[in-house]
Amino acid sequence: MRCPYCEFEGSRGDLHGHLATAHPEEVPTRLDEEGRLYYRIRCPYCGFQREQRVKPRWQDPGFLVEFRREIVLVAFDQLLYHLEGVHG
Ligand SMILES: [Zn+2]
Ligand SMILES: [Zn+2]
Repeated sequence: MRCPYCEFEGSRGDLHGHLATAHPEEVPTRLDEEGRLYYRIRCPYCGFQREQRVKPRWQDPGFLVEFRREIVLVAFDQLLYHLEGVHG
């Protein structure tokens, strides 16, 4: 599979790791007024967007730093499903 953001190519697993390491800024997060955390993933090809809430146990302010990579991995897994399903 080909990285949607750069020239990288590899297996799905390789690409998943590459996305989390090289392009974490493509998964923005936000907090709403109630302190709920959301992440957003956007397809660079068709503009498909999905925003999802991060599980409530992750409300500790230290979470965002410590588990940022986990959020990014989950989000890119969803993007990879979308790429395979829609742009495969
Ligand atoms: Zn890349
Ligand atoms: Zn798309």
